[in-house]
Amino acid sequence: MKCDRCQNEDNMYFYLDKEVYYCRKCIVFGRINVGETVEKKTYTPFVGETHLQLEYPLTKYQKKVMKTLKEAIYNDKDVLVFAATGAGKTEMVMEIIEEYLNGGKKVGIAIARRQVVLEIRERMASAFKEIDVVAVCEGDTDIVDGDLIVCTMHQLYRYYDCFDLLIMDEIDAFPYANNDVLEAIAQQSCRGNKIYLTATPDEKMLDEVKAGNIEQVELFVRPHGYPLIVPAIKIGSLTKQTIELYLLLKNNHARKIQTLVFVPTIALSKQLAILFKWVFTCRGFTSKTILKDKLIQEYRDKKYEVLFCTTVLERGITIKGVDVIVYFANHIVFSEASLIQIVGRVGRSMDIPDGNAFYLAESRSDSMKKSIEMIKEMNRAI
Ligand SMILES: [Zn+2]
Repeated sequence: MKCDRCQNEDNMYFYLDKEVYYCRKCIVFGRINVGETVEKKTYTPFVGETHLQLEYPLTKYQKKVMKTLKEAIYNDKDVLVFAATGAGKTEMVMEIIEEYLNGGKKVGIAIARRQVVLEIRERMASAFKEIDVVAVCEGDTDIVDGDLIVCTMHQLYRYYDCFDLLIMDEIDAFPYANNDVLEAIAQQSCRGNKIYLTATPDEKMLDEVKAGNIEQVELFVRPHGYPLIVPAIKIGSLTKQTIELYLLLKNNHARKIQTLVFVPTIALSKQLAILFKWVFTCRGFTSKTILKDKLIQEYRDKKYEVLFCTTVLERGITIKGVDVIVYFANHIVFSEASLIQIVGRVGRSMDIPDGNAFYLAESRSDSMKKSIEMIKEMNRAI
């Protein structure tokens, strides 16, 4: 027995119901019986012509990488774009998107997090004025077709055999990483080629590159040419870290600089927000926060100096001129990839390409050491 949607062949996931077996492994996407094929819906391609408008022209480094990327795609290869955080991965694929759209082809962009789906939708809509860019994610599923579709990984189940080009951002992140159901669904949604974007590829992806199944292109220079920020480490007990945190925040308060403080747990985010609200304008930000989009907008508008956030904010988000502090950085939730992403929040804008990052920790973890080595390595490659 095999499930046509998630490709599962393991009998333990098949349940018998009124003489037909159905698959439990991908049941969250609706019931599918064994022997049944996934329903193929019709999605309309863009008709007309769109002209890409970039806020900043591509740098010579981005252009070079884009050329290699295009060659690979037109040679019918899938590509991994391994780029530093803030290197402008999204901008680099825009020209290819433009060509596909103008050729009447269907393009999808799939991203791990809802927050980033909304941000990328805005960027695509301002780059391609003539087209209708639709964001499809939890809470926004009334309209699922548009000239360009930006969705979460979960929503790809709607697009069976739909995309001529599928761009997948942050494939090494939850929920896509190590999830065979989502992987099968993503593979099935794309009838053409795939571009994978990441700043922190995992072993599995690198093995695919080594095996020659995927071509890799690299870009470690950010558009402004400044190197990635190398975090400073301060070691001490949690009490000492809290005092250090206060001093760093006080300093940023005086310089009118906003700070993202990453903490390992929701409880700590709440406690620190309560502790510091007497001295700084601050809020907690976790997976449990309601009205996340509103809070991010208020933070961008500088209503708060500090957000005490969990790793929910580690990827994709761009806040101009922000500093980053990781509290309890030796905690197990802060993996090497996670720390690289967090530090990558600093110095992303053209106007403010610099900033500070700190790891406050009880001891130096392997992930802390490795993340710093990797950041230095990417800086050497510039
Ligand atoms: Zn299934």
